Amino acid sequence: MLLNSETAPVVLFMGAPGSGKGTQSGWLAASLGIPVVATGELLRAEASRNTSEGFRIRQLQAEGALVDDKTVCGVVESRLRRNTPRRGVILDGFPRTVRQAEFLDQLLDDLGLPRPLLLHLDVSTTGILRRLAGRRQCAVCGSVYNLRSKPSLKGSRCQKDGGALVQRDDDTEGVILHRMAEFESSTAPILAYYGPSAVLRIDADRDAAVVAADILHAVAPGTAYHLAVA
Ligand code: AMP
Repeated sequence: MLLNSETAPVVLFMGAPGSGKGTQSGWLAASLGIPVVATGELLRAEASRNTSEGFRIRQLQAEGALVDDKTVCGVVESRLRRNTPRRGVILDGFPRTVRQAEFLDQLLDDLGLPRPLLLHLDVSTTGILRRLAGRRQCAVCGSVYNLRSKPSLKGSRCQKDGGALVQRDDDTEGVILHRMAEFESSTAPILAYYGPSAVLRIDADRDAAVVAADILHAVAPGTAYHLAVA
């Protein structure tokens, strides 16, 4: 058992683009009743601003390049300080560099939150390309679907608000391969930084519901399984 009911879990999801981080973190958050902070989403919100900073972030995201540590740490810090998750939090897509990991350690310490548990969603290249080709996102609320594994009940419209389902700019094959290469080179140092005792490797090539059950069992055995999509 990795976490018990007295701790406020801080869970980090680490996985290549298309490894199912977004889906799995949403399900785990619903089961544990804690929020997810996804840096990709926080940065997309910054990028949608009509400012030079917004434009800069938009360009980096469109290329599949990492946004600089200062900007990413800044958005995470302001989110966690604004509304400190006393019952625990899931971080999706952060940290992605050792500097971000060091920053996070200090921030968690400052906020009185425990050291994190890192879930490494391990998935093959073929699995990633297959999933990302089918990924669609609502242009209005950002909900994520997959044509194959998680289709919308309303076809090409979002089942929550009817918004059009679109492909993300960075989900084209060339950009995906760049993001995967970026992920591969940044993964090893982070896994080494946390050390094997803080890292749980999950085989994420399996069916999403099986992976979710495995994660929940490992993180908080005995917790009811809640597959509501956040
Ligand atoms: P994601 O939604 O997690 O796949 O992230 C989408 C894009 O946002 C990435 O390709 C990066 O450009 C940027 N991004 C998200 N999280 C980070 C991070 N922790 N550090 C740097 N860039 C990030």
